Amino acid sequence: MTRSVTDIIATLGTGIHVDGTWRDAASGATFEVENPATGEVVARLADGGADDAAAAIETAARTQEEWAAVPARERAEILRRAYELLVERTDELALLMTTEMGKPLAEARGEVAYGAEFFRWFSEEACRIRGDARRSPDGKTRLMVTHEPVGPCILITPWNFPLAMGTRKIGPAIAAGCTMVFKPANLTPLTSLYLVDVLREAGLPDGVLNVVCTTDAGGVVEPWIDSGLARKLTFTGSTPVGKILLEQCSRHVLRTSMELGGNAPFVVCSDADLDTAVSAAMAAKMRNMGEACTAANRILVHRSVIEEFGRRLSEKMSALTVGDGTAEGTDVGPLVEQKAVDKVVDLVDDAVDRGARVLCGGRRGDGPGHFYPPTVLTDVSPDASLMSTEIFGPVAALVPFDDDDEAVRMANDTEFGLVSFVISENLDRALMYSERLQAGMVGINVGVVSNPAGPFGGIKQSGLGREGGLTGIEEFVESKLVAIPVR
Ligand code: NAP
Repeated sequence: MTRSVTDIIATLGTGIHVDGTWRDAASGATFEVENPATGEVVARLADGGADDAAAAIETAARTQEEWAAVPARERAEILRRAYELLVERTDELALLMTTEMGKPLAEARGEVAYGAEFFRWFSEEACRIRGDARRSPDGKTRLMVTHEPVGPCILITPWNFPLAMGTRKIGPAIAAGCTMVFKPANLTPLTSLYLVDVLREAGLPDGVLNVVCTTDAGGVVEPWIDSGLARKLTFTGSTPVGKILLEQCSRHVLRTSMELGGNAPFVVCSDADLDTAVSAAMAAKMRNMGEACTAANRILVHRSVIEEFGRRLSEKMSALTVGDGTAEGTDVGPLVEQKAVDKVVDLVDDAVDRGARVLCGGRRGDGPGHFYPPTVLTDVSPDASLMSTEIFGPVAALVPFDDDDEAVRMANDTEFGLVSFVISENLDRALMYSERLQAGMVGINVGVVSNPAGPFGGIKQSGLGREGGLTGIEEFVESKLVAIPVR
């Protein structure tokens, strides 16, 4: 039977986990975690600072050699057991995630399945880290290439996918044999605390995964970078914060992986099947209430179908039930905090001031909780702020276009390049778009591309490196060349 969320929270760790032990902050400071649907405080955690950061990174550095020597099969089996525990505890974990983040339970369960899958995928990859051996072209040297764990890693995650953004980094780090210091977002730390206990139960040795929750992100992460003990930083979050971290990492030439912001174009061609277009747009727009880096931010629709598409999309959007995500039947939960609602209000007002028509929604309601209604805007002007800003809310912005060249030009007119979507019944046309759209990922006739077996990541200012897929493990290993003369 699923425990109540109060009972689940009562068994969680303090917020700081070093060398296998939960502890209070060295300063004694604490911070509160709120439920965004009610504004109620649901937990109080240790608020880490520089001393806690130092203890965590020193532990990770001290544990690295021993952990790297653990056979790959053993590391794989820890991940496999953790995968099974996560799946077994889906309902509890989903309830906890919804309570701190707001997404409806059905979506939280989906995230548990997606997030757990990274552990299963990397449990399979752990034993398959490849090497290479060959003669040099002149025949005089044997060249042997091995792969070693990169070393202690700094992991930083955002609040929008509290489980999956963690497992997407922790999975390959464990598979490769890296130790970690991990800072989850302060808005949604509880899911990460639950995850740490699952990994301990699955057999992860003390000192491998050290966690510091904090309201002073820079005060924890910068000392980690400057400690000289870390070898890599892997970050998921906004592009502005990613740029700060890249600068800080350059001081120590740390390897980096950056999963940053997006501004996804979603192109509906004149030959699109409109049922497919609407259901893909609903998925690309409304997953996570629009609070996703992959969310369709600019919906570019051929002028010949924009009216019908807009009508059908608004019909679906207006039919969604908005409410507390923990209530079964809720389709759309609250946004994560009031600041997020204020930002959406400003973006919608600006678009309307510049001539957009509201097909549904468009006005926030009264009452507690950070709610914003599903909204469809059409005839959005290309100079509206939401065309160049991540909306991060349930607002679909429709823009007409007249031909494919114009759509490609508009789609690529952004400094971001995470994901693009194209809806067309003509395979040649869809492939033409997939080749010309500047993005790390392209969805054709689909609204979600994420899959642990595929490489996730962006180009341009959406990031560096890929997570998941066959290359995901490479972010956590260094190749080493051993040269042996032929005598
Ligand atoms: P954010 O403000 O950049 O925060 C992300 C993480 O960085 C949080 O843990 C945050 O800590 C921490 N942080 C903030 N300032 C920092 C600093 N100076 N030094 C070190 N760490 C710092 O992003 P967010 O609002 O949480 O997440 C939304 C953004 O993430 C969007 O832009 C979205 O597109 C992007 N995102 C990208 C992907 C991807 O895979 N490409 C996936 C999900 C989200 P605190 O929150 O605790 O302050």
